[in-house]
Amino acid sequence: MKNTKSAYTRDLSADEVKQHRLMVTKDALGFFPKPFKTFTLRVGSAEQETAVEAIECHCMGLAQPHEHYWLPVKAEPSEHPWERGKRVTIRKNEKGYSFEIL
Ligand SMILES: [Zn+2]
Repeated sequence: MKNTKSAYTRDLSADEVKQHRLMVTKDALGFFPKPFKTFTLRVGSAEQETAVEAIECHCMGLAQPHEHYWLPVKAEPSEHPWERGKRVTIRKNEKGYSFEIL
């Protein structure tokens, strides 16, 4: 995954599709507003308010609690449904954040 300062790219996992949220890797946290700080995400012609969420996780066992970061995405262009393996990109420019799915 290449994550530049102007874009965050992921290939959707089954869990991301099911939960309709994107995992935000730790190295990409600086790309987004701080966790739980609401911002506007443009999805096609629609806009939605969302925020990166820090959620406690025990995927490495109870002895190693840690957090994962997720970005819920509610709306989507209907012609581009979420499917596992599809590439999504969040772009950041002077107009704000926008979501693309290919
Ligand atoms: Zn975990």
